[in-house]
Amino acid sequence: SSKQNGKSKVTRFTSAMKSDFLLRTELSRDMHSALDQQQFQLFYQPIVDQQGQIVKAEALIRWRHPRLGFISPAEFIPIAERSGLIINIGEWVFKEACQHLQQLKQYFHPDFQISVNMSPVQLAEQSSIFQDWHSALDKKGLKGRDLVVEITEGVMMTSSDEIKQRLLSCRELGIELALDDFGTGYSSLAYIRQFEIDYLKIDRSFVDNLEKDGNAQLICEAMISIAHKLKIQVVAEGVEEPGQAQLLKRMGCDYFQGYMISKPIPIQDLLHMPNQLTMI
Ligand code: C2E
Ligand code: MG
Ligand code: MG
Ligand code: MG
Repeated sequence: SSKQNGKSKVTRFTSAMKSDFLLRTELSRDMHSALDQQQFQLFYQPIVDQQGQIVKAEALIRWRHPRLGFISPAEFIPIAERSGLIINIGEWVFKEACQHLQQLKQYFHPDFQISVNMSPVQLAEQSSIFQDWHSALDKKGLKGRDLVVEITEGVMMTSSDEIKQRLLSCRELGIELALDDFGTGYSSLAYIRQFEIDYLKIDRSFVDNLEKDGNAQLICEAMISIAHKLKIQVVAEGVEEPGQAQLLKRMGCDYFQGYMISKPIPIQDLLHMPNQLTMI
């Protein structure tokens, strides 16, 4: 039983666990000053359309810790969610992205969009987050449509009616919604329809297996076809090989993101990329 499992685990507080615990405690503590000390940086990963034109970019946070060096968001975001600091970090990410949006629109295209990742904690704690962001955009002469908010399947699955309404309020403000890491969770198509998602991002685990595994191909094909029937556009994540892009393009995939196009890069580097890439 689970009780028994729990019991046997309690005694095994290994030194690895201890140092892991200490590390997380240290990170949690240091994160508070990291914002003030400007240790966070936004990187951007370009997203191209079927013609190879850079039309969007995903904002991805980086933390340069003075002692520990670079720390992955996969590591520190969960800690920030537990401490509540994700609220401040999320606001910083949004403001920073707004700051860069104007430059990017000027450089690439007036319809250029930035997508930011939204933690379920932000969504739960900040009741007027979309309204607030919309008015911040408005003050800068930007529109809701300039922003895409990425959420994960878990958000849709576990949300209360209140949070569902919050997500739907996006629509009236023009802010677009993307479902991140699609295929790794358990969401049903009914949910996707209910939330009026604009983009579905196929998780890179499917893209990774495309050339090796016939099932991955079938699954990608099915995801794209159903998404399109629901009037949802599809972004493929983690595209590393031209062969993968070729297959996905043939399946009708709308947008491509991955190391094949570019790794996440600082804004200055993005502003030096050619507008048009030779895709495949
Ligand atoms: P995500 O939103 O799914 O972002 C995509 C991740 O895949 C990024 O990792 C990106 O660098 C990586 N990636 C992109 N293309 C490729 C590829 O071709 N191959 C491989 N192997 N990886 C690729 P990153 O930047 O380390 O971010 C990890 C996760 O941390 C993100 O996953 C997102 O869930 C979270 N995250 C990042 N920035 C933020 C943020 O500002 N706020 C919140 N709440 N979460 C964030
Ligand atoms: Mg994302
Ligand atoms: Mg993703
Ligand atoms: Mg991911």
